[in-house]
Amino acid sequence: MDANDNHVDPIFACPTCGERDADRLVWIDDEQVEYQACGTIYEPGAAKGGDDAQP
Ligand SMILES: [Zn+2]
Repeated sequence: MDANDNHVDPIFACPTCGERDADRLVWIDDEQVEYQACGTIYEPGAAKGGDDAQP
């Protein structure tokens, strides 16, 4: 096992720098995460899409 297993899945990584450390990624609402070290706000898993599609 990796010594640091507190990394999120790659689909949740910062799109700018690729940071995956869960301790550094902050949820700012139900959908958006901010990685404060680089200032990027993004929607993890947004690329997956389709879950909220209208019927
Ligand atoms: Zn970043």
